[in-house]
Amino acid sequence: MRLPLTILAALVPLPLLLGQTATTTAAAGRFDANIVDRSANPCVDFYQFSCGIWMKNNPIPPDRAIWGRFNELEERNRAILRSILEKAAANDPDRDAATKRIGDFYFACMDEASVNRKGAEPIRAELARINALRDKEALADEVARLHQAGANALFSFSSAPDFKNSTVELAQADQGGIGLPDRDYYLKQDPKSVELRKQYAAHVQKMFELLGDSPERAAANASAVMDIETALAKGSMDRVERRDPAKVYHKMSDKALAELAPSFAWRKYFALVEAPPVADLNVATPDFFKQMQTLIEQTGLDQWKVYLTWRLVHSSAPLLSDQFVNADFDFYSRTLRGVKELRPRWKRCVDYTDGDLGEALGQKFADRTFGVEGKQRTLKMVKTLEDALGADIKGLSWMTPATKQKALEKLRAITNKIGYPDKWRDYSSVQITRDDALGNDRRATAFEFERQVKRIGKPVDRSEWEMTPPTVNAYYDPTQNNINFPAGILQPPFYDNSIDDAVNYGGIGAVIGHELTHGFDDEGRKFDGAGDLRDWWTPADAKAFEDRAACFVKEYGSFTAVDDVKVKGDLTLGENTADNGGLRIALMALMNTLADKSAPKIDGFTPEQRMFLAWGQIWCQNATGEVKRLRAQTDPHSPGRYRVNGVVQNMPEFQKAFACKEDQPMVRRPACSVW
Ligand SMILES: [Zn+2]
Repeated sequence: MRLPLTILAALVPLPLLLGQTATTTAAAGRFDANIVDRSANPCVDFYQFSCGIWMKNNPIPPDRAIWGRFNELEERNRAILRSILEKAAANDPDRDAATKRIGDFYFACMDEASVNRKGAEPIRAELARINALRDKEALADEVARLHQAGANALFSFSSAPDFKNSTVELAQADQGGIGLPDRDYYLKQDPKSVELRKQYAAHVQKMFELLGDSPERAAANASAVMDIETALAKGSMDRVERRDPAKVYHKMSDKALAELAPSFAWRKYFALVEAPPVADLNVATPDFFKQMQTLIEQTGLDQWKVYLTWRLVHSSAPLLSDQFVNADFDFYSRTLRGVKELRPRWKRCVDYTDGDLGEALGQKFADRTFGVEGKQRTLKMVKTLEDALGADIKGLSWMTPATKQKALEKLRAITNKIGYPDKWRDYSSVQITRDDALGNDRRATAFEFERQVKRIGKPVDRSEWEMTPPTVNAYYDPTQNNINFPAGILQPPFYDNSIDDAVNYGGIGAVIGHELTHGFDDEGRKFDGAGDLRDWWTPADAKAFEDRAACFVKEYGSFTAVDDVKVKGDLTLGENTADNGGLRIALMALMNTLADKSAPKIDGFTPEQRMFLAWGQIWCQNATGEVKRLRAQTDPHSPGRYRVNGVVQNMPEFQKAFACKEDQPMVRRPACSVW
């Protein structure tokens, strides 16, 4: 339902968290000595030791592809959102405007009978417009309408801070327009990939049949869709290359863009999406737009109509009738991710409300769960992590004083956003009714698209958030040099006010450390303290960094994700660096906090052991084989097992804490280390 992530957001966001106790039953998420698998040897497999009992007792629910501690917390947050929305949905004339807006949105979404009665009717008018397109110049009209509706059609257009002048919003044109999770899905020739493409084509065919086409006609349409999407995939840049900010930064004039793809009516498109005058823009992937040009020239108008129809029905399916919902589930959840059952409707409708009216719903969530005290506590903890990272940088053997000075300046410039935005988004212009589930989504999505497009050329508002308050996640933004911790993650098992420091430092402490060190990973280090893409490293220090980073690429690249699929060491480098640096500085901060205090064993574990166990336990998870395979190809994060074992193998402090012997698996020689 949301726009595709901007380059900026996709660059770094990451799962992590902190702690403020919500009003729900928090005990379920706490550090729990009872889930430690004492039959396992921590020096042989620390993940099994930390999570073995949890994994055994927590099979994947049938409506999930992955089930872990993050998801437990998400479910608790979702239950709070549900109670807010059910109350708001009552047709009470005394509701204030914001309550009415989220309540009516949820009501319409939950009104399954009405949604089913309508079938495909909510998109019939748009389908007719696509069928009436008279020439290829009119592609721009329809692509503009689909972008406003939140559909991923042909390419993506938005705004984001200019990498080299990060105080100003720059228009961004980027690759897009495909329905499989990654370009490689269209290009790889191994049997699994070939089979998956067949299943995808069958799904596309099924959706055309649901729109009323004969099986023969629908099959021909699916084939046309595959041709176009495969060509778009061929023109796309792969995920590893996209990690280099310089490779996705090509600022050019609107004329230069028009020269790359003259057959697309750019001027018309910009006018239709009501973009402010676009003189310069970042064309993230110029080769993609060249390919798009060739494709527009070589593909007939009828094929384009088929492709646009597919993009429309695909983006609408979750809010159309059951037939569409179930077909969409069959391919995208069952086949691609190994999920057995569709989630209950209320969970889906809570998530759509969060996605479409996130700050209206999130304001109520924050009111209920997160106080001023939670913010103060978190900020205090962040300060101890920043101090630890500063001390770590000063003590590095491989970095020269000149670069250290710059690194410390960047560290001091990081700003912290905790809990929720200072000012809330105003959705009062979005029309929401009680009987139009898809229309509500479309209008809210158009509002967000327009909001992003309208800020082109304006100063960047650094108080905006890329995540809503209930989100169980956190992110570092390299162009703003800030770390962001939504209220949703500041709870057990990440943080618990009633538990000892060691556990909190292994949870939220390490997560804060993780986000801080993103400012210094393979991507983040290329931006300066002001958020601009600028090289502040001496060549020798850059070389030393890269040599050390190569150690992580090799280490994680040796781990098996599933069957014969390995973790991609280069795709996951930034996250692995952040995990390793984050846990190290969390331990430093814990030791500073514990200094001069007697720190007894609890549950039989020393403070150091409890810190490592807390880190291990936030990553406890079970996942289907399908989703392990999918994530290995697309997710910049390593699987939970390696976020734990991959890190502790590199830490002498861990090996000392558990008295590991030199030849045991959790002792890696040479150990990898950057921060
Ligand atoms: Zn991260």
